[in-house]
Amino acid sequence: MDQKTETGALSSKDQHSQLVGLHAQIEACSQCRLCETRTHAVPGEGVLNPQILFVGEAPGAQEDKLGRPFIGRSGRFLDGMIQGIGLRREETFITNVVKCRPPDNRDPRPDEVSACKAYLDRQIEWLAPRVVVTLGRFSMQRWFRGERITKIHGQAVEFGTGQIAVPLFHPAAALRNPQWRAAFAEDMQIVRRLLEKLAGSE
Ligand code: SF4
Repeated sequence: MDQKTETGALSSKDQHSQLVGLHAQIEACSQCRLCETRTHAVPGEGVLNPQILFVGEAPGAQEDKLGRPFIGRSGRFLDGMIQGIGLRREETFITNVVKCRPPDNRDPRPDEVSACKAYLDRQIEWLAPRVVVTLGRFSMQRWFRGERITKIHGQAVEFGTGQIAVPLFHPAAALRNPQWRAAFAEDMQIVRRLLEKLAGSE
């Protein structure tokens, strides 16, 4: 049975076992057509109660091959940006809106995003991140429906029980466009200041 802390939250041990169970479920999931073409589902990786939960779009070819998120060129870029604000990848959690690779890197379809939504819901609940950083327009849509990333990147909003989401460009887009790359670096500094402010208010 789950052990609750005095505040009613799950203990770290239970958070961890819930997450391990969820990730096993994701790895065996066949709730949408993407299960037919994936090599590995990619649940995500990182720590419980991360400083930042990064939510990207979908696994790419490298990620599908190894079952790990953001490990190709975009991943190296993201790792560098995380280091740029004084954190390590291991202090964050990294996942995607859909956990299986769409064939030929096409965009995830609405029914696939919807089929996978409950997994991200549970991850957000159990990971209890300080700040959620959305990477690109697909994850942005969850918190900033109908908005344009070029207009609202770097602007934080509060949701749920005091958690904060900040939309950023997708690392792959930032790598393609020098202007967006600079914006990504600036937005990460906004995230850094936000984390400092949250730590100061504890
Ligand atoms: S994308 Fe999500 S819903 Fe679809 S098969 Fe993979 S884990 Fe299941």
